[in-house]
Amino acid sequence: MSSDDWSFETLAVRAGQHRSQFNEHSEALYLTSSFVFDSAAQAAARFSGEEEGNVYARFTNPTVTTMQERLAALEGAEACVATASGMAAILSAVMALMKSGEHIVASRSIFGATQQLFGTILPRFGIETSFVDAGSVEGFRAALRPTTRLVFIETPSNPLTEVLDIAAIAEVAHAGGALVVVDNCFCTPALQRPLQLGADLVIHSATKYLDGQGRVLGGAVCGPKPLTDEVFKFLRTAGPTLSPFNAWVILKGMETLAVRMQAQSTNALQLAQWLEVQPQVARVYYPGLTSHPQHALAMRQQKSGGAIVSFDVKGCREAAWRVVDNCHLLSITANLGDTKTTITHPASTTHGRISPEARAASGIGEGLLRIAVGLESPADIQADLVRGLS
Ligand SMILES: *Cc1c(COP(=O)(O)O)cnc(C)c1O
Repeated sequence: MSSDDWSFETLAVRAGQHRSQFNEHSEALYLTSSFVFDSAAQAAARFSGEEEGNVYARFTNPTVTTMQERLAALEGAEACVATASGMAAILSAVMALMKSGEHIVASRSIFGATQQLFGTILPRFGIETSFVDAGSVEGFRAALRPTTRLVFIETPSNPLTEVLDIAAIAEVAHAGGALVVVDNCFCTPALQRPLQLGADLVIHSATKYLDGQGRVLGGAVCGPKPLTDEVFKFLRTAGPTLSPFNAWVILKGMETLAVRMQAQSTNALQLAQWLEVQPQVARVYYPGLTSHPQHALAMRQQKSGGAIVSFDVKGCREAAWRVVDNCHLLSITANLGDTKTTITHPASTTHGRISPEARAASGIGEGLLRIAVGLESPADIQADLVRGLS
């Protein structure tokens, strides 16, 4: 049986491993910034690219290479380039593939730093972004220009878990000559594989579920080699490269990705169903619930509803903060993708810099709470919330 036939679970544990002369069982951590050559001629050949091999860790490092190969295998991608963080992945993709005068179409409800990058930094370099509502494929078509190079989406969206139709958006984007980039941070390849649905590139914040235990920053761009080669060329020159130590932590995190995502999704569904029948809860946002407006699409596109659950508490900010402040177990933090459950009040934290009007227009109310469900027992998570809800 060749590795081409291996299942996701097997690839998560085995893909990309290259053993050294010591025949180590667990992947080695090569904590080295540079590599030694046998001769002047070899040094010259490595630098010119005539001979394959490591030169300097801003370009390649064996531990980073292993992590890249494993993530590429999980995404079903030809190649992967690892970056220092999720934002470094997004910046590197834009810098590698775009030039001044070109245009991005992005869904409105993308990660806050991505909004800032597209909305305030890239315009200084002549790259404009049109933000469109997540729900309408027609909106994406209408926003396309002859100069549109990238259509950038995130699904499910944060914090309202709107599900975007990757295949339909890819069709529209490709008809307009644009590439489709999907930030797959929330689902990970364990639950959703955008390249199979027609996306051209997948972006990861490996900081979240790929590490899965809140330890290191990292990111990645996955896709066909002609595109990732461009990202690599930018990276080796500009430098937002992943540290080998972080690559090693993420690599070991990926070994448990499938079981974690499955268990955290199961816990999230149970929590969402419980929240739906709490009298103090006005509305629950979770793609795994049959009451979710895009439940059918989510179940077609994703393996499960994922591990993020949001809900509106009756009684606005005061009531929502009461729930947060009565949590003893859940961590009050905006981070997500950890085995430890976290709770956030988006209106006063992650989305606090947006005007109240714009926030209300995008459906992020004062009573909204977002929970990134971890691996604690669902009963303990509920007990922690019920104190503040009652
Ligand atoms: C966290 C996050 C990012 C940014 O990743 P960093 O590793 O923090 O740079 C990008 N997209 C999404 C959806 C995220 O949640």
